[in-house]
Amino acid sequence: MPIYTYRARDPEKSCEHCKNSFDTFQGIREDAMTLCPECNNEIVRIIHAAKPFKDRSDHKVLSDDNLKKHGFKKLVKTGKGTYDEVV
Ligand SMILES: [Zn+2]
Repeated sequence: MPIYTYRARDPEKSCEHCKNSFDTFQGIREDAMTLCPECNNEIVRIIHAAKPFKDRSDHKVLSDDNLKKHGFKKLVKTGKGTYDEVV
């Protein structure tokens, strides 16, 4: 089963669980989660660009803070052809 990472869409409205992102196992056919299971606020799925075997180290490199620092923008696909800018 693939691991998906989610993070609060709005950090102002998040709990400790979703504030910094959390990983969850989901079947490939399951719909993306949209609400945090802990606080019920909106969450977005973070797309892993990294190869699975390098997951942990790349996680840091691809963190929002790091992307921002280097002037990158990160787009998260939220539906059919729509993207949310999260950084
Ligand atoms: Zn939460």
